Amino acid sequence: MAAQEETVEHKYVYDFAEGNRDLKDLLGGKGANLAEMTNLGLPVPPGFTITTEACQAYLTTGREPDGLAGQIEAHLEALEREMGRRLGDPDDPLLVSVRSGAKFSMPGMMETVLNVGLNDRSVIGLSSQAGGNDRFAWDSYRRLIQMFGKTVCEVPGEEFEHALDEVKHAKGTHDDLDLDADDLRGLVDAYKKIFAKHTGREFPQEPREQLDLAIRAVFESWNAERAVLYRRQERIPADLGTAVNVVTMVFGNLGPDSGTGVAFTRDPGSGAQGIYGDYLANAQGEDVVAGIRNTVPLQELEQLDKTSYDELLGIMARLEEHYKDLCDIEFTIERGKLWMLQTRVGKRTAAAAFVIAGQLVDEGLIDLDEALHRVNGAQLAQLMFPRFQLDHEFQPVARGIGASPGAASGKVVFTSARAVELAAEGESVILVRRETNPDDLSGMIASKGILTSRGGKTSHAAVVARGMGKTCVSGADEIDVNVPAKKFTVAGQTVNEGDVVSIDGTTGKVYLGEVPVMPSEVVQYFEGSLDPEHIDNPLVRAVHRIMTHADATRRLLVRTNADTGADAARARRFGAEGIGLCRTEHMFLGDRRELVERLILASGAREREDALAALLPLQRADFVEIFREMDGLPVTVRLIDPPLHEFLPPLEQLAVNVAVAQERGEDVAKEEALLSAVRRMHEENPMLGLRGVRLGLVIPGLFAMQVRAIAEAAVAVARDGGSARPEIMVPLVGAVQELETVRAEAEKIIAEVVGDSGVDVLIGTMIEVPRAALTAGQIAEAAEFFSFGTNDLTQMAWGFSRDDVEGAFFWRYLELGIFGISPFESIDADGVGRLVRIAAEEGRAARPGLKLGVCGEHGGDPDSVHFFHSVGLDYVSCSPFRVPVARLEAGRAAITTTGSDSR
Ligand code: ADP
Ligand code: MG
Ligand code: MG
Repeated sequence: MAAQEETVEHKYVYDFAEGNRDLKDLLGGKGANLAEMTNLGLPVPPGFTITTEACQAYLTTGREPDGLAGQIEAHLEALEREMGRRLGDPDDPLLVSVRSGAKFSMPGMMETVLNVGLNDRSVIGLSSQAGGNDRFAWDSYRRLIQMFGKTVCEVPGEEFEHALDEVKHAKGTHDDLDLDADDLRGLVDAYKKIFAKHTGREFPQEPREQLDLAIRAVFESWNAERAVLYRRQERIPADLGTAVNVVTMVFGNLGPDSGTGVAFTRDPGSGAQGIYGDYLANAQGEDVVAGIRNTVPLQELEQLDKTSYDELLGIMARLEEHYKDLCDIEFTIERGKLWMLQTRVGKRTAAAAFVIAGQLVDEGLIDLDEALHRVNGAQLAQLMFPRFQLDHEFQPVARGIGASPGAASGKVVFTSARAVELAAEGESVILVRRETNPDDLSGMIASKGILTSRGGKTSHAAVVARGMGKTCVSGADEIDVNVPAKKFTVAGQTVNEGDVVSIDGTTGKVYLGEVPVMPSEVVQYFEGSLDPEHIDNPLVRAVHRIMTHADATRRLLVRTNADTGADAARARRFGAEGIGLCRTEHMFLGDRRELVERLILASGAREREDALAALLPLQRADFVEIFREMDGLPVTVRLIDPPLHEFLPPLEQLAVNVAVAQERGEDVAKEEALLSAVRRMHEENPMLGLRGVRLGLVIPGLFAMQVRAIAEAAVAVARDGGSARPEIMVPLVGAVQELETVRAEAEKIIAEVVGDSGVDVLIGTMIEVPRAALTAGQIAEAAEFFSFGTNDLTQMAWGFSRDDVEGAFFWRYLELGIFGISPFESIDADGVGRLVRIAAEEGRAARPGLKLGVCGEHGGDPDSVHFFHSVGLDYVSCSPFRVPVARLEAGRAAITTTGSDSR
């Protein structure tokens, strides 16, 4: 038995030739795509991938799983045979890189070590194999000690950087390339001393030990603080682990005919077709992303090495065709020979996502369903943000690269800590840095925008900001940043910490002061002021095309929450197919408060009826306006919901007023009556008190007045030739008897008002009390529709009040993973969602054709929309601005594709 178990040893290591792009869970994105490129026949340096399962095992047990060491040994030997070299061989060393790579890309979050296998002896062998290129060999060796020290042994990176700066200073240069072999040999000595000082041991000379320690460090980097923070921000599960790729080294630092670069197959900012990339001659990969030296645009490679350039463009076209999407790539040229080191479906801005999806349809690579699948509501929401309005006196003081779009103004800060501090005080801040690094993450999260003076579209700042949907301008090199002095200078002016700047992440322009903003083109399109067929804006055309397809595809209708004619009109332009929630509370505010006070203080039926009679025409006028705007579409009106004392002055204020007036000897009879009413109506738990239907059953005539106003308004609109379709919604029902009582009274009034006008008024209820969901079969007997009030349903299902809990302990719950996202933001499918499902099924069973909708804020949340689609609701209702987002997501929910991961 035991022997048998040994023979089915778990497979932890895959050769590149064994994997493919669908194995991201196991091999990580980088490993899966290296395998895919290998199998496409592209020039990938040979290597193998250690699985995420090995990492998970290591992280749970604290040691490498059984069998891993042997499998690494076997794959290493095979690699050595293939390359005809042995790892770290003194005469002709095989060198490898050890690279992290998780399922989801986490740019710059985890570790990579290059040149593993170099030591005091193999450095000589490397030099002679490179034709006596001592400079190259010692440069590679010092890089190994530096990266190994920093990432494997936690030696502070600055120590190495200082030593490098010192050597350059002594030489009177700023450029690494001016250092010769002797300088670099000296630097290796200095690095070794730094290493020994911090670790208490010599730099490991044994190649296999280097390899094993580097692999372990990559495993551990999964739990580095910044990686944990990034995952939380991006909602990447914490237990996936990273794979480790061991890749034969190729050298971009062998001389001017070598180099390294990164590229996108289209512009990840705008989606435009073309060649977007950066290239750096005579350098190793990490130099490009670190922004250590200034890169040149990829186009210039054509002059430097036309053969490699053409091959690269060919490969990029091939990758796009194969992945049917924008790809980003990392490559190295070693003495005129091109090597592919990485590819993946590239991150992109919201605008680029739409534009590219549209282009790929035109190019015949994908169909409209797939295009719809490739974009999402969060991106659309981003495109609806306002932009800067520049027809003023505003002149940019600098121009960098529009690295992540949006318009952000805020106070300048120079450190991550200060950004976090000011943001906590409610300030908008712009984080200004020469360049960012992974340690700046918390500051980037806290900022409205990020401005750097160095680095391109592929710099850390750019990549991370795009991922977060945060405005970023990178590489604004006219800006001279002085972090210690907390200031920057630009165009002869000094900007200090706390001064306001504005940055445009689309154009890359930087302005001093606060620039006013204007609505986005996408919003203008939704409002109908841009005709998508006749304007030359690729984004608007793409949005139009995809939205049209979403509308044609979706089953869910999208209504809006609107309480005024103006909101209704706007939502209708945004595509709302009715009103799902018209609150009547505001109709009791403003100068109508006085009537509400009279209603509450009424000492008898007569006074109460007078107050209600005065309110009736006002309410009717409100409804007429809304029905007109929503002509022909259903309008769900919710009868008054909040407790009445919300319409009265607060207790403390009244008490003070009364006391002061008494002191002055004034007549306070009315105030005293009010005060005692407020005292009487005070509730410990207003959320669970006298509100909703309970109010309607307790205050005679209140609901009747509202029902009458609704019916009369509908009839008035119909008389004018319009078509009003009111749906009267009773809030907070928990038992069918409540609804039956309200219904009986309402039906009488409706019959009397409507007569033969042809107006049809539906009566239904909100499902927002758990008991209502659980007795939905009974309630459906008295309801023509249900509308799920998911805010209250969430509060009551969890037993917490939103206003109290969000600030008090949600952060802790999110931290502990008790929920991954606030249940007020995205529906809790398992709990609250289950109530919705039960109510929908039992309600429909009791009354076939029962209309079902949702009117909580969840109606505009992408994930929740998918859930409501799956439950089979008829419509969602959300705020006007969210209507396009819900339309898009309802379309996405209705398609089933096998398409790529949308993250
Ligand atoms: P990241 O995930 O942060 O992009 P990578 O593992 O891609 O880290 O490594 C960073 C860079 O190191 C790569 O872009 C590449 O240029 C360089 N690099 C990695 N492996 C090799 C290799 N085998 N040969 C040459 N350069 C390499
Ligand atoms: Mg990379
Ligand atoms: Mg409610």
